[in-house]
Amino acid sequence: MENFVFYNPVKILFGKGQIANIAAEIPADAKILLIYGGGSIKSNGVYDQVKSALAGRNITEFGGIEPNPHLETLLKAVELVRKEEIDFLLAVGGGSVLDGTKFIAAAVPFVGDPWDILAKQAPVTAALPFGTVLTLPATGSEMNTNSVVTKWETQEKLFFASPLVFPRFSVLDPETTFSLPPRQISNGIVDAYAHVMEQYLTYPVNAPLQDRMAESILKTLIEEGPKTLAKPEDYDARANVMWCATMALNGLIGVGVPQDWATHMIGHELTALHGLDHAQTLAIVLPSNLEIRRDRKCQKLVQYAERVWGIVDGTEADRITEAIAQTRNFFESVGVCTHLSDYSVSLDTIPVIIERFQKRGFVALGEHQDVNPEIVDKILTLCA
Ligand code: NAP
Ligand code: FE
Repeated sequence: MENFVFYNPVKILFGKGQIANIAAEIPADAKILLIYGGGSIKSNGVYDQVKSALAGRNITEFGGIEPNPHLETLLKAVELVRKEEIDFLLAVGGGSVLDGTKFIAAAVPFVGDPWDILAKQAPVTAALPFGTVLTLPATGSEMNTNSVVTKWETQEKLFFASPLVFPRFSVLDPETTFSLPPRQISNGIVDAYAHVMEQYLTYPVNAPLQDRMAESILKTLIEEGPKTLAKPEDYDARANVMWCATMALNGLIGVGVPQDWATHMIGHELTALHGLDHAQTLAIVLPSNLEIRRDRKCQKLVQYAERVWGIVDGTEADRITEAIAQTRNFFESVGVCTHLSDYSVSLDTIPVIIERFQKRGFVALGEHQDVNPEIVDKILTLCA
């Protein structure tokens, strides 16, 4: 196991009815900005629950954060926060609203062009405090330090991370997810699954607890995920998937072990260029990433085959092939397609993606930092 420091201060309020308890988590005299997306919280009753929990509080609102939140929109919120001297943010929605809120929190006190936080990885030295009410289990944003933002003008999708953008608290009420359309439920399952794989499917470092925690999340997603699609109001299935998604990317399973993230980095380009949902890109790239790099990932692939999919027969090569096929089948079985052609994206996109990586001073990706342009090309070619 590798050395690590683990720190995660996010207070989780989990379960039905927990939105009612948020007032105690926000300073009584705070000037609050309630930040949300395109309106789902108004139709599913979450907005009303939040407003009634915060009755009598000083609240300003900012709606309209897009999926894959746009820099241009977030900067309008930054302006509003500065003008109104708001001192606490409350994000209510999916990962996009949460990520957008993290960016706003960091951008408000930032001196200079806030895009530098993403484009130049300019250090974040201060951020406004914020809490979240999560309505879409997928990203883990509710309990991590990451934020992904898209600059619409240039179609660039970049991320930053800082311990200053840990939420102060996050409410996870599985009932808020009952209203999700199937596409978003499926996306959430795939995103959480891919997060675990990025931290698990690398090479062994004698970290059996880390491995078994990762395998438990994968197996729980395989068991419970389909139930949330079949019976949208199965509370326990929703609760388990929601907690899986949080545990998949709150830092715990990733400490002490190598991490890949090539699938996400390539996927971000597909979203930026072709507008695919985040999870759709992961379902396309992950199986091909595993296939192209199967030699260096061999030991973990054999372990994954056996422990997650129960594959024990045949040669090692056969078991690995079968495990990758099962991974693809799982994504397809929850309704997320796994080929570029399913979204009418042609292979012409490959040189464009590689050029964009190189323009940004491409650092080779993956746990060995060996995923160079040639390997990205091979992975994407196999995605066809
Ligand atoms: P999302 O983009 O936040 O939301 C997708 C759609 O679901 C929106 O149209 C939203 O509608 C709707 N929605 C959300 N909750 C709903 C509910 N309870 N009922 C009905 N509709 C609902 O999706 P996401 O997958 O959570 O976030 C994706 C973003 O997160 C991407 O930009 C991705 O790159 C990023 N990401 C971040 C991390 C991280 O660690 N921070 C990790 C992975 C991915 P409304 O807009 O109307 O609310
Ligand atoms: Fe993700």
